[in-house]
Amino acid sequence: MANQEELFRKIISHAKEYGFIFQSSEIYDGLSAVYDYGQYGVELKNNIREYWWKNMVQFNENIVGLDAAIFMHPTVWKASSHVDAFSDPMLDNKDSRKRYRADVLVEDYIAKIEDKINKEVEKARKRFGETFDEKMYLETNPRVVEYKTKITEIKARFFPALDRNDLAEVKKVIEDLEIACPVSGTRNWTDVRQFNLMFATQMGSLSEDASQIYLRPETAQGIFVNFLNVMKTGRMKVPFGIAQTGKAFRNEIVARQFIFRMREFEQMEMQFFIKPGEEMKWYEHWKEKRMEWHLSLGIPASRYRYHDHDKLAHYANAACDIEFEFPFGFKELEGIHSRTDFDLNAHQQYSGKKLQYFDPETNESYVPYVVETSIGLDRTFLAILSFAYTEEKLDDGSERVVLKIPPRIAPVKVAVLPLVKKDGLPEKAREIFDILKTDFYCQYDEKDAIGRRYRRQDAIGTPYCVTIDNITLEDYTVTIRERDSMKQERVDIDALHQLVSEKVRKNLME
Ligand code: ATP
Repeated sequence: MANQEELFRKIISHAKEYGFIFQSSEIYDGLSAVYDYGQYGVELKNNIREYWWKNMVQFNENIVGLDAAIFMHPTVWKASSHVDAFSDPMLDNKDSRKRYRADVLVEDYIAKIEDKINKEVEKARKRFGETFDEKMYLETNPRVVEYKTKITEIKARFFPALDRNDLAEVKKVIEDLEIACPVSGTRNWTDVRQFNLMFATQMGSLSEDASQIYLRPETAQGIFVNFLNVMKTGRMKVPFGIAQTGKAFRNEIVARQFIFRMREFEQMEMQFFIKPGEEMKWYEHWKEKRMEWHLSLGIPASRYRYHDHDKLAHYANAACDIEFEFPFGFKELEGIHSRTDFDLNAHQQYSGKKLQYFDPETNESYVPYVVETSIGLDRTFLAILSFAYTEEKLDDGSERVVLKIPPRIAPVKVAVLPLVKKDGLPEKAREIFDILKTDFYCQYDEKDAIGRRYRRQDAIGTPYCVTIDNITLEDYTVTIRERDSMKQERVDIDALHQLVSEKVRKNLME
């Protein structure tokens, strides 16, 4: 764990040092849980967004895009129940004055018991060797059974209490489990209270009550309120989807872990409108499709897992997360939710407008059900960065830090490097740069020794370096160096564009 913490610290400082992520308003000592993306960060972020958009909108005939405003009519948030229910149960430790989410404290506690079970299993696996039957062991080993019973009991007591909003019982569970504050180590807790996560602001004249509006806490509602517009103007037939990317705002009380939990962040959401009764089929479909998308980035499957929700949100009848193994453990990256007709129904009621689909086959109208996929762009960025950051010892004894970002989404695709700053090499390099730059984000660099230039490109994850030397002037060839293997091959300048194009698209879903 200490190693992972250290690794996480290094990733954060690398992100700053190389222009990926800066703290917001840093010269004023920053603003908590708000970040700015620097010159390479913005490229990576744009590329992830574009890769998602292509996969969702361009590759699916029945999914179209939308870009709804951040400000919405305040009744939207009443209908969606965000005004009344978008809150977290929080409690403070009176000694450390740190504030915690009650559900996170209990979930962490359960995760520790699960860890113990895993350790028992690993010990037994070593002891029994090939004859080990994990399923039987999990069902019969007294200690494991005791742990599992404990987890079941905690869940049976805690989640219904949360559902009933019985905050006294929520606190009692934390006390009975003797959960202590990780900072002070004491169990001196305040009562549990609900904190709404929406940022409110004023529109127009300050004194009018009606002018209070909210910064959207999710992009989904912009899609729901435009359901009819898009369906009619796009002549959409159920099943169909609407996709949107954009900023969302949450006044997270416990904001930590860098860009994992921010107060201003970006979501990439897709609401898929379906016939009621078909939701489980589509839920399974999107669970699988979304995992395929993640794996297509080339990150090993072992870094991902599904996590079914124990406590379903009021609008959902099935929900799971795709979790990623960050340096601080497996955490939610994307949610896949079967939201029933909750949102469209609520907007129907509050707006008085019919939000229904007329099925030409059955001649019936109905309010469609919705399966949504909701992924955080910043969290995906962090997942990719955590996977990509690599420290390597090279054969010559030197070290390098390289970001193994999948080429398709790497900020800079090609660095064009004249070996020396004379003999006509810079001019030739500029020519090549001009050929490539229309289709790929390239960087031209002639400063310092070639080795140092390679290191600089490794550190920002540039997958290919093209070097122009004296031979180039004779036979019109260059060397192309691949970032991860550091292998170099000589290729014709004429073939370069095609080659880069193939390499950048390799292993991806297009
Ligand atoms: P969490 O339980 O971590 O607070 P959530 O379940 O509230 O997340 P959703 O409402 O399902 O999250 O939002 C969908 C996605 O938006 C999440 O999977 C996550 O990737 C992203 N997201 C949510 N809150 C934040 C945040 N504060 N900072 C960055 N990304 C976020």
